[in-house]
Amino acid sequence: MKVIVMGAGVIGVASAWYLAKAGHEVVVLERNAGAARETSFGNGGQISVSHAEPWANPSAPLKMLRWLGKEDAPLLFRLRADPAQWSWGLKFLRECTAARSTHNMIQLLNLGTYSRASLQSLRDETGIQYDHLTRGILHFYTSQKEFDAAIEPARIMRELGCERQVIGADEVVRIEPALASIAPRLAGATYTSEDESGDVHRFTTRLAALCEARGVRFRYGVRVQKLHAQGGRMRGVEVADETGGYETLQADAYVLALGSFSPMLARPLGVKLDIYPAKGYSATLPVLDASRAPTTSLTDDEYKLVFSRFGDRLRIAGTAELNGYAMDLNPVRCEAIVRRTLEIFPGMSEPQLARFWTGLRPATPGNVPYIGASAVEGLYLNTGHGTLGWTHGCGSGRAIADIISARVPEVDFAFCGKPSRTRPVAMPALS
Ligand SMILES: Cc1cc2nc3c(=O)[nH]c(=O)nc-3n(C[C@H](O)[C@H](O)[C@H](O)COP(=O)(O)OP(=O)(O)OC[C@H]3O[C@@H](n4cnc5c(N)ncnc54)[C@H](O)[C@@H]3O)c2cc1C
Repeated sequence: MKVIVMGAGVIGVASAWYLAKAGHEVVVLERNAGAARETSFGNGGQISVSHAEPWANPSAPLKMLRWLGKEDAPLLFRLRADPAQWSWGLKFLRECTAARSTHNMIQLLNLGTYSRASLQSLRDETGIQYDHLTRGILHFYTSQKEFDAAIEPARIMRELGCERQVIGADEVVRIEPALASIAPRLAGATYTSEDESGDVHRFTTRLAALCEARGVRFRYGVRVQKLHAQGGRMRGVEVADETGGYETLQADAYVLALGSFSPMLARPLGVKLDIYPAKGYSATLPVLDASRAPTTSLTDDEYKLVFSRFGDRLRIAGTAELNGYAMDLNPVRCEAIVRRTLEIFPGMSEPQLARFWTGLRPATPGNVPYIGASAVEGLYLNTGHGTLGWTHGCGSGRAIADIISARVPEVDFAFCGKPSRTRPVAMPALS
C-alpha cells in the first residue's frame, strides 16, 4: 500500500518506520526543513511509563484553581476568549473523576509498557544512539503530603505491571548521589528502574535517516493545506510543495500525525479532535562538574520539572500553559527552571549558559492519544500524545502500522475506530 504520513515529529517518524517495516511504500510530509523541529525537539527526555497518572485526576481542579494567574505555576490555565480552550477545559474537568482517571491511567500504562519494549527492540535491531540512559526514573517529593498521596497511585501501577517502588530519602541519595544537597528536605520518592531517558531529537532525526535507508521518502518544506474526502473516503492531501506550488497527493492510506496542528486539518472533514496545545519549556545546561549532575532521570514533584542527562548536557523541562498557540518564551518561567536546577545541583553549571526552548504538547483532556482509524475511510489518526509522546512514540507507530496492515495490535488500548477496543470519535456524516 502507498501511505502518506503527515508530520515528521517523533510520532510521524516512528509511524513511517513501522509502516516501512511492514512493507508499505511511505511518503512523509513535513513543513520544516528536517524532522523533529517542533514539539519533538527539546522535550524532557523521559521514557516514563511510570508517569501514567493523567493531569486530569480528582485532585487537579482544586490545584489548578490555586495556580490560576500565578506566572510560575506548574500548570497554568490562562483563560482566553477561545471556545476551543473552554470546550477542552470542560472536557478536562469531566476526565477528573476517579473512574475516568483510572481508566485513562490504564490506557497510558498499557501503551507505555508496550512502547518502551518496542523502543528497546528497535534499539537492539538498529543500534540507534541518542544519548540514552537506562538508569530508571526517580520521582522525588519534598512535601510529605504529596509523597503520601503518591503511595496509592504507585500501588495501583504496580498492580498493573509498572514496577514503581516507593522508597525512603536514604535510598534516594543512594540511587542518585547528586541529590545529596537536598537530602534533609526529601520526604521520599518513587523509583521505576525500568524507565529510561534519551534525546528525542537525536532519536527522531536518526530514525528518519534509517527510514530513508529503507526507502521512505521524506518531503521537507511541504505544508499540508487541506484534506480532501468524498463519499466518506479520503481522496487526497492538498499541499503547498517545496517550490511554493500547490499539488494534491494521493495514497491508499493517510496518517495524521501533526501534533497540536492536527485538529485544524481534521475538522473540515467532520473529524473533531479534542486536542489543545499545552505549552512547555525546557532549558539545556552544559555539565561543567559531572560529579554534581544527575545521571538517573529525575522528576521534581514540587516544581513539576523533569531532568535528563544527555552526555555532557542536562535537560530540564516542565510547566504547562494552556494559552493557545503562541510560542514566546516567558522569562519568569525560564529563570524559575534554572534557579531550581542550580538550587538542587549547585555548581553543576552556570545560569548564563542555559539554552531555552518552548514546545506545544498536543494535549487531550484525559491525556490519552488518538490512535487508529477515523470514520473517514483511509484516514488514520496518530496524534494527541500530550505529555508522553516520546514515551509512546514507538508503541503508537507500531500499533498504527499494524492497524493499517489489517493486523490487531499487540497492546490492549482504546484505539479509535476499528479494529477492536474502540474509542469513538464524534463525527457527522460527510456530504
Ligand atoms: C516541555 C516539554 C517536555 C516534554 N517532556 C516529555 C518527556 O519527558 N517524555 C515524553 O514522553 N514526552 C514529553 N513531552 C511530550 C512530547 O514531546 C510530545 O508528545 C511529542 O513530541 C509529540 O510528537 P508529535 O510527533 O505528535 O508532534 P510534533 O513533534 O510537534 O510533530 C508534528 C509535526 O507536524 C508538522 N506539521 C504541523 N502542521 C503541519 C502542516 N500543516 N504541514 C506539514 N507539517 C506540519 C510539525 O512541523 C511537526 O514537525 C514533552 C513536551 C514538552 C513541550
